[in-house]
Amino acid sequence: MFTLPSLPYDYNALEPIIDAQTVELHYSKHHQGYVNKLNELIADTGFKDRELEEIIKTADGPIFNNASQIWNHTFYRNCLQSPQENNQPTWSLLEAINANRWSFEKFKEVMTASAVGNFWSGRTWLVKNPDGTLEIINTSNAWSPLTLDKKPLLTVDVWEHAYYLKYQNRRVEYVTNRWNIVNRDFVEKELEA
Ligand code: MN
Repeated sequence: MFTLPSLPYDYNALEPIIDAQTVELHYSKHHQGYVNKLNELIADTGFKDRELEEIIKTADGPIFNNASQIWNHTFYRNCLQSPQENNQPTWSLLEAINANRWSFEKFKEVMTASAVGNFWSGRTWLVKNPDGTLEIINTSNAWSPLTLDKKPLLTVDVWEHAYYLKYQNRRVEYVTNRWNIVNRDFVEKELEA
């Protein structure tokens, strides 16, 4: 049985960038819904005693979709924190970004454009490849870098339920504002893990 991991901040913690109602619905309805559905789907299968990441890497169809969405949502909300003024990355993260021949401003520009242009319900990710290089990739539906042998460092959620209540069709504004609530310490921790 999987349980919904606790939310590391209050529903209103991301205001005014992401409104409390969106955070509450996203957590207590969507994220919880994937947990409930996965438990139901795996109850009588060999997946019921497996780790979440193992299920993601071996299952397909609805079991994959729900397992991957649990992981994606936990990762997503861990990437965020209350708004920070002048939210600059820490030194080692900046170094890794620069090694990719990006300035921090250029990196934000490329990732923002990628998220704005992500056509599907999906996510845009900063990932670390096995050779240590960084890359920005788009995924659709429940897919994530875990199945591509890439380590996720940061994600931008562009499923409409992540922003539609406050921003409606204004995805550019949502993706741009979002830089102020990136939890750079979490991204750094993932980079070094
Ligand atoms: Mn979602």
